[in-house]
Amino acid sequence: MFDYGIKQWAKDDFIIENGLVKVNHSVKPSLIEITKKIRDTGVRGPILIRFPHLIKKQIDSLYTQFNRAIDTFDYRGGFNAVFPLKVNQFPNFIKSLVDIAQEYNYGLEAGSKAELIIAMAYNNKNAPITVNGFKDKGMISLGFIAAKMGYDITLTIEGLNELETILEVAKELGEPLPNIGLRIRLHSSGIGIWAKSGGINSKFGLTSTELLEAVDLLKSNNLLEKFRMIHFHIGSQISEIAPVKKALREAGNIYAELRKMGAKNLDAINLGGGLAVEYSQHENIHNRNYTLTEFTNDVVYLLKEISAQKGVAEPMIYTESGRFIAASHAVLIAPVLELFSQEYTEKGLKLKKENPPLIEELYDLYKTINSANAIEYLHDSLDHMESLLTLFDLGYIDLQDRSNTEILVHLIIKKAIELTTSSNSQELKRIQDRVQERYLLNFSLFQSLPDFWGLKQRFPVMPLSHLDKTPTRSASLWDITCDSDGEIDFNIDYPLYLHDIDVKKEEYFLAFFLVGAYQETLGMKHNLFTHPTEVTVEFEEEGYTLENIVEAQSILDILYDLDYDINDLQSRLKTNIAESDKIKIDEKEKILEQLAFHLHENSYLKMVTKKEG
Ligand SMILES: *Cc1c(COP(=O)(O)O)cnc(C)c1O
Repeated sequence: MFDYGIKQWAKDDFIIENGLVKVNHSVKPSLIEITKKIRDTGVRGPILIRFPHLIKKQIDSLYTQFNRAIDTFDYRGGFNAVFPLKVNQFPNFIKSLVDIAQEYNYGLEAGSKAELIIAMAYNNKNAPITVNGFKDKGMISLGFIAAKMGYDITLTIEGLNELETILEVAKELGEPLPNIGLRIRLHSSGIGIWAKSGGINSKFGLTSTELLEAVDLLKSNNLLEKFRMIHFHIGSQISEIAPVKKALREAGNIYAELRKMGAKNLDAINLGGGLAVEYSQHENIHNRNYTLTEFTNDVVYLLKEISAQKGVAEPMIYTESGRFIAASHAVLIAPVLELFSQEYTEKGLKLKKENPPLIEELYDLYKTINSANAIEYLHDSLDHMESLLTLFDLGYIDLQDRSNTEILVHLIIKKAIELTTSSNSQELKRIQDRVQERYLLNFSLFQSLPDFWGLKQRFPVMPLSHLDKTPTRSASLWDITCDSDGEIDFNIDYPLYLHDIDVKKEEYFLAFFLVGAYQETLGMKHNLFTHPTEVTVEFEEEGYTLENIVEAQSILDILYDLDYDINDLQSRLKTNIAESDKIKIDEKEKILEQLAFHLHENSYLKMVTKKEG
């Protein structure tokens, strides 16, 4: 059965049953059932569905695995973690996260002033806050205010000048001081497309020489006791375990050396983020070569070993994994609006009494194709098409002939695929490129999957229904922006097959999974398509409810965000209508009303399909 690799990427979060993809939790609703409920409220464009139970699942497995490893190795330091806000700052995600976090004492990490403000407002009182990134005096002052609020906050210093600013602010604002962390610049670096955060040439962190200076500076200002944590981050989506181990050995030794130099209160190592997510839906491609069990075992074991070797106390372990926590909680649903060759039906065929010989031949191929000759006939038809298109350019056949050519070739392609998919023909695979079907989706790739646009990162995608039928079309996906980059092309290394459906007769939705990390805030308003409508699905004992429905922004809202003067814009529209002599006086009122209606709608398409009437 065609399962879109669900066993590989979904970790049992989602399952296929009776031809539908279902949430593998509680009453196991299908995604199509949830989608229809949301659409019943009038929503049409793309929908982002959040599942807080999947946030909990990830947080729980992180803590469970670290605590298990700590037990196994009889490790005497503890474990705690923070969520890096840059991965997803959307309020309905963060509110669910901090709710769940309470039970684990899980905290937040901030990399900018605005993120720090979110942490100061929403973090659970005893849970840690860490602050990374470049800091000015204002940001450091905010850290002091957070400490005064009672938060367990650590400011991680990226450079010596930040430490000097801390000393300055300490003189002005006094006790209590935030804890101080030092970001270390490792000699080892990460791996993969996000690897720039680590390594000796990294943008971040203190060299060994600077570390020594920092400790001296802290000592001479009587602040060494505030130095509690060292921090590193070797990059996101670390696909292999080896660079993690290498970085840990280096960091572990730096920790031990600093303790021996008198940093008595230094008792924590923060490993940053980087835990990878398996995005691949193709058996032969894997995005990571380790499990969480292996990762936690390696971290705990290595730190224990280094501490023993150097005779220092085993440090508290912190992590800042974001992608691992957030990716799986969100699913993007995009309605299919159109299959580009859908109009190529037998009904559309308008053969003349006398047709050019090649068209007669095409028709013959179409009528006599069978499983034995399918590939041969497919080749012939593609050749004929080339010749017929040339004949058209030279003026020998007319537009009707050309239309008949297109229709016949598409009919032959469809039949050939139907006749050969079971035999998994190599040749068919080879020519997928030429026989692919383009699916138009009601969403913006720039807004909802920016990492595909920017980094060619692929996300698992599958239809919500029809999963009991073999998909027969090699598919490329097109969004509704007017940009040719708004396409997920059919790629034979990552083939996607979808069903041949008539969207005028039945609905067909695609779901993109694992979109909960980075995609939402990196998403851009290209063509002024905004964040999709979002919904949170909360499970209860006997079912689920749809919460926090936030509709996609209206046209007026997005223009306001671009700093248009909304009043001026509306009065210009009004004037244009008032001054137009093409509109009858008694119709002007009605047209104004229509216009006002559109201004309060969002930009996504509102196609009315037959079924919904
Ligand atoms: C981006 C970042 C993270 C999160 O990385 P993930 O790959 O999402 O786990 C953690 N810490 C720091 C310092 C970061 O810059």
